[in-house]
Amino acid sequence: TRRLVVITGASSGLGLWAAKALADKKNYFVICAVRDPEKMDRAAKEIGIKRSDYIAMKLELGSLQSVRDFVDNLKTFTPVRPINHLICNAAVYRPADPVPAWTDDGYEMSFGVNHLGHFLLCQLMLPELKRAKNARLCIVGSITGNSNTIGGGLVYPRAEIGELEGLRQGPGAEMVDGGKFDGAKAYKDAKALNMMTITELHKRFHDTTGITFSSMYPGCIAETNLFREKRQWFKTIFPLFMKYVTGGYVPEAEAGQRLAQVIDDPECDKQSGVYWSWNGNAQQVGLASRVLNKQTGKWEVQVQGAGGSGGKIFVNQFSGMISDSRRAKLQYDYSMDLVKDY
Ligand code: NDP
Repeated sequence: TRRLVVITGASSGLGLWAAKALADKKNYFVICAVRDPEKMDRAAKEIGIKRSDYIAMKLELGSLQSVRDFVDNLKTFTPVRPINHLICNAAVYRPADPVPAWTDDGYEMSFGVNHLGHFLLCQLMLPELKRAKNARLCIVGSITGNSNTIGGGLVYPRAEIGELEGLRQGPGAEMVDGGKFDGAKAYKDAKALNMMTITELHKRFHDTTGITFSSMYPGCIAETNLFREKRQWFKTIFPLFMKYVTGGYVPEAEAGQRLAQVIDDPECDKQSGVYWSWNGNAQQVGLASRVLNKQTGKWEVQVQGAGGSGGKIFVNQFSGMISDSRRAKLQYDYSMDLVKDY
């Protein structure tokens, strides 16, 4: 029998190619949790995922009720077989927004979609995963949420969740740390919460459920829609730059295989609560960003980070803030509070 794997945001980019990589292995049936099932069907057709290997199901992560409905719908599909794996991959990145957009429940969009919707999904699916043997749960992280790297650390704005003032406030908060809205930072903060959720899920549930929890950074996939809000020149230049200058560029298909590896590779079942990355070639660089040079006061392009085509998988280190267990617990408890009615 095939293993059932749920992937959020499988209708484009990394999620789509991970769905393909798993479907191609033949021992998985992929449940694509997407906001637009018709788009999923078109995308699957385009890249050759067979109808018999996947199903598209509606999930709008910007609505906690939709997350609840998705999990209820899953149960009608799988009364006897448990879901084996969950990949939380969907995300929005809105660096150009001058003001916050809001989810149905009144949360800032990057926080609501990238973190809170997935947080609820994880909670609701834990009993399912617990029923399965060798279940794995992966939340896609990012170098940008990991401040021990140049890409995530020195590049302004930095991920900084403060004392979770925004989470304590609940709906209406513009930022996790209670500050004023900054779209690029909101994305990084949410990615940091994603990774902290993994360390905390591992602590709370790995021993009692046997579920393997992980996060991963696929390398920089410069051509995905994540950068849809960037200007056209950036979209044209950036992938070329990543490919020919930095070597940290990962083609979508290969990034998808990396994500699939975290679910499929027996090596990745041996450790839980970890953050997977891939070694690049000699030159380990992967992210091009504008950095404020504090001495000159000028913006410069800096390229650094983990990742690289053809790399080998390794366990990367979580950075200071992400491995701060006090705040990991705090964000988990506050997030629980925000989703408890669902
Ligand atoms: P894409 O924008 O191509 O994919 C994001 C997916 O999320 C899309 O399928 C999108 O759906 C879905 N999505 C967005 N909003 C919602 C919502 N409200 N409800 C449900 N689904 C939603 O970007 P990527 O493939 O690049 O990003 C995938 C993951 O990879 C993210 O977690 C991102 O943080 C991470 N990542 C990406 C890197 C990169 O270089 N691109 C680097 C590091 C991490 P739709 O198809 O309808 O738009």
